[in-house]
Amino acid sequence: MSIVVKNITKLYGEQKALNNVSFSIERGEIVGFLGPNGAGKSTMMKIITGYINASEGEVFVDNFDISTHKIEAQKNIGYLPENNPLYLDMYVKEYLQFNASVHKISKDEVEKVILKVGLRPESHKKINQLSKGYRQRVGLAAALLHNPEVLILDEPTTGMDPNQLAEIRSLIKAVGKDKTVLFSTHILQEVEAVCDRVILIHKGQIIADKKLKELTGNQEQVIEVEFDYKIEKQLIVNIPHLKSANNVHDTIWELTFDTSKDMRPAVFDFAHDNGLKTLSLSTKNKNLERLFRELTA
Ligand code: ADP
Repeated sequence: MSIVVKNITKLYGEQKALNNVSFSIERGEIVGFLGPNGAGKSTMMKIITGYINASEGEVFVDNFDISTHKIEAQKNIGYLPENNPLYLDMYVKEYLQFNASVHKISKDEVEKVILKVGLRPESHKKINQLSKGYRQRVGLAAALLHNPEVLILDEPTTGMDPNQLAEIRSLIKAVGKDKTVLFSTHILQEVEAVCDRVILIHKGQIIADKKLKELTGNQEQVIEVEFDYKIEKQLIVNIPHLKSANNVHDTIWELTFDTSKDMRPAVFDFAHDNGLKTLSLSTKNKNLERLFRELTA
């Protein structure tokens, strides 16, 4: 196991920010740490990285106890904190070389990391000239310099425009191929786009910890459709990916498909090809979003 969190509780004065939190993450997993603002995500990440201490419980990173073997554990951790603190007056390369020298890392590594996060064209610019997306890349590069096994990314996409979002997400995915990644977000689509597992946290407690496939109901999709005429079931089974068809009422059908691809156009085409009119058409997916809303309601 790369990360083991056991019964962590954190009190800020009277306030319980984390309440008996436990989970573990295997080497090579990309896990989304999802929860609304104030859920306790940053607090958990600061405890894992050894920046603050828990009130109760234990954390192990690559088998090192963060409270008793902090230095050994931190050697295996790359951390991109929320609000990514950078020296804005420094040049990208200069900043990374400065970080490298603090950690006694060779200049060759700086070049490798610059390439890895796609910062080559920007490496001679001052950090304050960079967009938010590129600043996050600099933060990510700094977190990767000592080639850690575990990456902890606290809300890495906050404040980015859609293009920057897509870029940083695919970068996290690429970096995650040979690292263990835990990244926090309050954006659901982000988890769907990047991770294979999600840990849902709310009011300091874990309320779900599942593979994404389980949460999205194994990619099933339910569509309710109303035609203008009654039809026989034999006709409807010709729609591709159809798993079952239930005649809810007269001309209304509930169709279940075994794919996550949007099948509404196929249902529409089916009606058209068979001389039917579609009076209404809606998806009834109990997708991650609904689950998220239900769980945190
Ligand atoms: P998230 O990252 O999910 O937004 P945080 O871990 O930042 O949540 O915060 C969890 C709770 O702990 C919030 O209610 C927040 O106000 C509180 N909190 C966080 N940091 C501190 C602190 N240094 N002192 C007091 N309360 C804090």
